[in-house]
Amino acid sequence: KLDLLDSSGTLADLISTEDFMEHIRNIAIIAHVDHGKTTLVDCLLKQSGTFRANQATEERMMDSMDLEREKGITIRAKNAAFKYKDYHVNIVDTPGHADFGGEVERIMNMIDGVLLVVDAAEGPQAQTRFVLRKALEAGAKPIVVINKIDRDNAAPHKVLDQVFELFMALHATDEQLDFPVIYASAKQGFAKVEMNHESTTMEPLFDAVIKHIPPPRAHAGEEFKMLVANLDYSDYLGRIAFGKIVSGKVKLADPIVCIHGDGRKSKSKTTAIFHFEGMKRIEIQEAHAGDIIGITGFEDVFIGETITDIEDRQPLPFVPIDPPTIQ
Ligand code: GDP
Repeated sequence: KLDLLDSSGTLADLISTEDFMEHIRNIAIIAHVDHGKTTLVDCLLKQSGTFRANQATEERMMDSMDLEREKGITIRAKNAAFKYKDYHVNIVDTPGHADFGGEVERIMNMIDGVLLVVDAAEGPQAQTRFVLRKALEAGAKPIVVINKIDRDNAAPHKVLDQVFELFMALHATDEQLDFPVIYASAKQGFAKVEMNHESTTMEPLFDAVIKHIPPPRAHAGEEFKMLVANLDYSDYLGRIAFGKIVSGKVKLADPIVCIHGDGRKSKSKTTAIFHFEGMKRIEIQEAHAGDIIGITGFEDVFIGETITDIEDRQPLPFVPIDPPTIQ
């Protein structure tokens, strides 16, 4: 079995970047508050074996942003990733509502599919609508996850009708309207494609992600380029720029160039490269087109800017950030 993305981050010699991209999926999870996003992510990580038991109590994936916001240092989304069979699936967190200008658009740039999680008793709620609209506009492939089907008052078929109406109201394309449906209990850890099926695992959902969500929109080739979608800070490495590698690859200590929003260019070297395994960031030696990574080397990099290999590259389209609005 090919361990395509082990911690060393190096590709087996025989695998081309195109093959590598075939084995990557980048998704986001959209859910109204309390519909079960956190529980679902925990369950996916656990069942895929990417979850280390002691992380469970330390930190639930989506819940640790408040502190960061309080400190005012980042507006980062917390990413995670799991392995399933030979696939590496990145999960990019989405904000519950539109609190930062351009944030949702930047996230949608990185992903190719979304899991729309809807409570089987409550049905779709206002909060899912905005982000779902952005996902559909960005051409993301949706998978509808009707969650909490274990609830006494679950009405999955009725809720599915409501989801369908929501898609119509948001002008989904015919292809998007043809969304796969998964019925799940994230809490009890099972998913199925028909209500009358038996299932004791999340396998049907894993399979749906691999089958229905396309590989990343990225390409192999000479030019290394990534669009910075999020920032974080490390005490010993400085600013970490996160985003999807849109083309090419990058290695530790490679010379890199940051094309800033005002057109200015600065030069540096990669001092570290990270990607995600479970809820942890893992340092890797080399990263390839399609993956979502963090990179250090620039103290003055900002969201929306392009990191590339040499100075005369065209920057990727700049998506500016508006100042955050307090809600
Ligand atoms: P989030 O706000 O979308 O991240 O929702 P959480 O994952 O925190 O879940 C909200 C509440 O719903 C928690 O009390 C969960 O235990 C519960 N919950 C999540 N998934 C299920 C499910 O499949 N069935 C039931 N009965 N409860 C669930």
